[in-house]
Amino acid sequence: MKTPIFAAQGFVHTLLDGAVNDKNVRGKFLKKAAKSLDGLDVLVQDLLTLSQIETGDIKMRFEHIDLYKLSHEVIDQFEEKAAKKNIRLKLEGGNHKIAVYADWQRINQVLTNLVSNAINYTPEGGEVVVSFDVGKKNVTTFITDTGEGIPPQHLSRIFERFYRVDKSRSREKGGTGLGLAIVKHILEGHNSKPEVESTLGKGSMFSFKLQRSKPESDGE
Ligand code: ATP
Ligand code: MG
Repeated sequence: MKTPIFAAQGFVHTLLDGAVNDKNVRGKFLKKAAKSLDGLDVLVQDLLTLSQIETGDIKMRFEHIDLYKLSHEVIDQFEEKAAKKNIRLKLEGGNHKIAVYADWQRINQVLTNLVSNAINYTPEGGEVVVSFDVGKKNVTTFITDTGEGIPPQHLSRIFERFYRVDKSRSREKGGTGLGLAIVKHILEGHNSKPEVESTLGKGSMFSFKLQRSKPESDGE
């Protein structure tokens, strides 16, 4: 939390101390301050979400939703970010409806956090894939990347709040270590939990199960 505050503070004070009169740096500093404040906003939202889920202030809103459609929306939002890093972002599942019983907003958050990590921690030229395994009772969603991977001794701890494998590495990417804690809490609210498999230097695969909608209550 301190990093974006100090950064924004620094830019604004430098402007007040006279830089505001320098046409060349004015716009640049304002943009940087705005970017830090945007980051702060995300961080505060994450902290709020976590504490609300933990205190039970957020009730899950279960509905019959199309997980494929939801995943498509999430993937679309990351197209630009992936393209900038020259990462191939793929959604498998053949455009078929996948009916699950879940909270749309919250599962959107889960997928957003997992896809965001997959792109963040995958070097240029890599690949990130979202795929599904539709079973009788459950649907498993996989988020696979060809990224740097996670050392085995860290695997059991990455879902803890503020936990980051490589603090310097994450800071450079602006991470706080809340994304996976939120994922874990939301999935708990769905009687589920995230799983991870990872090979250092090769990539990671995160997955989670959701209950399939029962055909009789599917409404279609
Ligand atoms: P935030 O999500 O709050 O912006 P963050 O990405 O650092 O910050 P988490 O999403 O909770 O935090 O992830 C925790 C740590 O797990 C990361 O800092 C990173 O070290 C590791 N990690 C998560 N996903 C991956 C991945 N797909 N590949 C490699 N490392 C990962
Ligand atoms: Mg993250």
